[in-house]
Amino acid sequence: MADKGFLKKYHEKRDFDISSEPFGDEAKKKDEDKQIFVIQKHDASNLHFDFRLLVDGVLKSWAVPKGPSTDPDVKRLAVRTEDHPVRYADFEGVIPEGQYGGGTVMVWDAGTYENDRKDDDGNLIPMGQQLEDGHSTFILNGKKLKGGYTLIRTQKGDNEKWLLKKVEDDKADARRNPVSTENKSVLTGRTMEQIKKESRKND
Ligand code: MN
Repeated sequence: MADKGFLKKYHEKRDFDISSEPFGDEAKKKDEDKQIFVIQKHDASNLHFDFRLLVDGVLKSWAVPKGPSTDPDVKRLAVRTEDHPVRYADFEGVIPEGQYGGGTVMVWDAGTYENDRKDDDGNLIPMGQQLEDGHSTFILNGKKLKGGYTLIRTQKGDNEKWLLKKVEDDKADARRNPVSTENKSVLTGRTMEQIKKESRKND
């Protein structure tokens, strides 16, 4: 069972009367086996990519300033951020200026993932345990990103830092650079500019 107040940090940072982000007061109880991930391109004070994995009913989250790479020789800094409610996976729009994370949010990639780290006996290590260990390996099945990735924790504490890296496999491709060449939402096909413009229209 999820702790009471498991989304406390998420709720404390936001004013839900002003932002259209989902409140998300319940951990996901249905489809718990379905392991989803989402990567949201977020044009806040600094442009970054928010990488989120559904683990134990919440979206475990990291801000990746340069976004994920498909090149196994490239490590990308991933700064741990607060857990988000599962409903956040479908959030695309504009967080009002002056609010926490104010700026445009796009669902840049989404799909399912499979746990891919085993213990010495060949049993899969639960994702929650992997994250606690600071060493996680999984296979993404998104529209833009596919194949194995690892997250390795390099710094613990309040400012937890990790490195996100592509695993060397048949989906690795050093020539692709989807972060700069694939610029449309996998949810709506829109660009950042279109999301911003259409949000203004709806005000
Ligand atoms: Mn963000």
